[in-house]
Amino acid sequence: MKNSNNTYVYSEIFDSVQGEGHYAGFPSAWLRLFLCNLQCNGFGQDDPTDPSTYKLPYKDFDAVELNRLEELPVWEYGCDSSYSWSKKFKHLQHRKTSREIADLVRAEFANEWNGGKWLDRHMCFTGGEPLMKHAQLCTMEIMRHWFDDEDYPLFVTYESNGTQIPGPEFIDFWKDARDRMGVELFISCSPKLWNVAGETTRKAIKPETVARYLDFSSNGQLKFVVNGSQACWDELDSTIARFRQAGVDWPIWIMPVGATVEGQKLLDGDVARMAYQRGYKVSARVHTYLWGNLIGV
Ligand code: SF4
Repeated sequence: MKNSNNTYVYSEIFDSVQGEGHYAGFPSAWLRLFLCNLQCNGFGQDDPTDPSTYKLPYKDFDAVELNRLEELPVWEYGCDSSYSWSKKFKHLQHRKTSREIADLVRAEFANEWNGGKWLDRHMCFTGGEPLMKHAQLCTMEIMRHWFDDEDYPLFVTYESNGTQIPGPEFIDFWKDARDRMGVELFISCSPKLWNVAGETTRKAIKPETVARYLDFSSNGQLKFVVNGSQACWDELDSTIARFRQAGVDWPIWIMPVGATVEGQKLLDGDVARMAYQRGYKVSARVHTYLWGNLIGV
């Protein structure tokens, strides 16, 4: 591919395991792109539906003196990745061309066992929101570089909030990657519930948009974060019915709210019980159990 001069802003590149859902436990390379169209300030709040009661420590935190994202704490309230979209953390982001990013991802996972080859390693594009327009462009360019290198990931996930419309070039690219290059594209779609994330249903729940992903992905999942309230379970049931009606038949995964180990322990057993009784799959955040409350794992 001809080198593009476009540069893209990203928060993090790291190598770890996938901690959630279908690919949990897979060795995974990560690119966290900057910007999101939602804020999800309701996570972890006593009443996610009442913004006047929110505690939002990321807003009060003084990040001016910080040099690295890894120095930030993991927030218990609001989006646990606010550093990947809030303008106040912009100075901690990186800006590079897609070729540079592609090389940095490979350098991050290269070790004595893989010699810098993808082998069975899974690639995860996350955010922020990795299906925003600029992120669609960036990730296609990165994949094209790896195709040119004749060494590319065979399993690729986008961790999306399911609100972004895929462009025609993006759809054709992934159809071709699937049909000609044998890449399995997985859309991990996590729609945000009003009673959990505090995002309005009109803005955050887009079943018809997610149905478009069926056309060019190989597989996917619907992953819902829940807080155990009755209102949340009721909203979950009606939301899933809307996705099913739109033709999205992917498995349902349920995760307890709580970005930290302590936060998850308050709820995880109860939420898991309610979820499996309804026939849904249960997901923990394996990386937080393994490595604690850290950014970049
Ligand atoms: S969609 Fe994800 S990254 Fe965006 S604000 Fe919500 S939780 Fe954070």
